[in-house]
Amino acid sequence: MAHEVTLITGDGTGPELCEAARRCIDATGVRINWDVQEAGIDVMARTGTPLPEAVLKSIERTRCALKGPITTPVGSGFRSINVHLRQAFGLYACIRPCKQYPGVRTFFDRVPIDLVIVRENTEDLYAGIEFERGKPETAELIDFIAARSPQRRIQTGREETGISIKPISVSGTERIVRCAFDYAIKNKRRKVTAVHKANIMKYSDGLFLETARRVAVDYPQIEFEDRIVDNMCMQLVQKPELYDVLVLPNLYGDIVSDLAAGLVGGLGVAPGANIGDNGAVFEATHGSAPKYKGQNKVNPTALILSGMLMLRYLGEEEAAARLEQAVADVIAEGKHVTYDLKPHRDDPTAVGTREMADAIIARLQRG
Ligand code: NAD
Repeated sequence: MAHEVTLITGDGTGPELCEAARRCIDATGVRINWDVQEAGIDVMARTGTPLPEAVLKSIERTRCALKGPITTPVGSGFRSINVHLRQAFGLYACIRPCKQYPGVRTFFDRVPIDLVIVRENTEDLYAGIEFERGKPETAELIDFIAARSPQRRIQTGREETGISIKPISVSGTERIVRCAFDYAIKNKRRKVTAVHKANIMKYSDGLFLETARRVAVDYPQIEFEDRIVDNMCMQLVQKPELYDVLVLPNLYGDIVSDLAAGLVGGLGVAPGANIGDNGAVFEATHGSAPKYKGQNKVNPTALILSGMLMLRYLGEEEAAARLEQAVADVIAEGKHVTYDLKPHRDDPTAVGTREMADAIIARLQRG
């Protein structure tokens, strides 16, 4: 039976990347009925909304989507569609394997890096609870805080301060930490590290750490430890081989994901999965790279590997393994790869997005 999957083509380089990923996934022989949907700035320009109702309806039906990157305007304009989708479908876990494939250039060559970032996806500073500078409700909040907590009131003037709220809950933390441990067991990993800044944010990150420690007791077969986020960043750069599965609140998860992607060769090779109890959206860690839009230039690997994670989620383990091997072989050979995987970024032998996908498909067909 064919799987029903929503394909959200995104904007910027999204459509060309989605086309490449879709062709590679189809080449595994797994039957998928793609329901192609548009979201992002291009559809906004035409219809007035960046996230048409049809997209949400489609995911409600399929409960599984492969998504191209979508631009989020900085400072003004519409709120992040990526965040909206995660919240709308309760996709509380963002899982980002950061694995070093032979042939990818990296600064770290002592041992191959193989990390998994498990990022909480719905809480923290991404909850969207924000109070704009100069608004009456912001002034009210500042006065409320001053009245409740005279020692720790906001020192700056009511007119010059904006506020973003960082909620972290016991239940939200519990489910993401369990997700990290369950992932570790299922994928034969050895250790989970909880990352936080509990020394400074005692009631949010402190709660995250306290809850993680409590959950860890239920998983005696997996090693558990914690790290303060700044130290974690330094350790990842210096000794990434010491780490395995990392579980983090939303914001640190976002930042450390890019750091880990950089360690294994850049955003072009870092896939991701947003998973909830009732559905999943698979997408690359990178954004829409708008300056390369329509140039058939950027690396499709991250989205193709996101498709590989999707195949695993759909129970197509064998096809997923074949797809990952085909990607690894093409990268290791180093011939039909995009500019970012070449020794020099202006290497004239670099191929385009489409041609790299063609090479992966040829590998798959060769078996
Ligand atoms: P970006 O990831 O789009 O690009 C940063 C740089 O990384 C690019 O200039 C390019 O040099 C490189 N890069 C990214 N993807 C690549 C690929 N596939 N192959 C080769 N090189 C690649 O980050 P940005 O410029 O900060 O963000 C652009 C837009 O994307 C923003 O609006 C941002 O909000 C959005 N964004 C969306 C998502 C998502 O859809 N999940 C994630 C991150 C950022």
